[in-house]
Amino acid sequence: MKIEVLRIGQRVIRDDRVTTHVALVARAFGASKIYMNEVDPEIENTIKRMNKTWGGEFEVEFFEDWKKVLKSKIEEYKIVHLTMYGEKIDDVAKEIRKNQNILIVVGAEKVPRTIYEKSDYNVSVSNQPHSEISALAIVLDRLHKGKQFDMKFDNSDRTIIPTKKGKKVVSK
Ligand code: SAM
Repeated sequence: MKIEVLRIGQRVIRDDRVTTHVALVARAFGASKIYMNEVDPEIENTIKRMNKTWGGEFEVEFFEDWKKVLKSKIEEYKIVHLTMYGEKIDDVAKEIRKNQNILIVVGAEKVPRTIYEKSDYNVSVSNQPHSEISALAIVLDRLHKGKQFDMKFDNSDRTIIPTKKGKKVVSK
């Protein structure tokens, strides 16, 4: 299963920290790429540094127009839009998991109506408002059934050995 993330919109006050965290969650929880815009281009370097230190090939791509990204994916991907108004994730996860390519759309502010219409699934993580970071983490966890934590991040400079106390890190 290949999962990519499309982050649309930024608040009036730029919210680079939230967008960075959306990208970090996407990477750590088993997505392979994020599409974003209106953010500090430095975010791309942050992710590159992350890949170098901790491994993997997670990609960041900046777009001019999210509609073009959506259009380019709509044939081959199932579009899963995260919204508190959607169907409960636990009711649809099994069906979504059957698909090979998935594009998860998360918003920052009010999401245009067309996203609701063009999406194959509008999915909620509780029907209460919260955050795109937490919603994305839960949905990726449900889709991977927790297996994302066994994922190998190849070619890392450093690897953590989980320990009861302290920090154990092996360097290349
Ligand atoms: N009031 C905004 C709206 O009507 O879309 C919500 C903005 S919320 C801060 C930002 C994003 O978090 C949403 O676009 C959605 O992707 C995600 N989100 C927030 N609560 C959610 C929930 N309960 N379930 C799924 N996604 C949620």
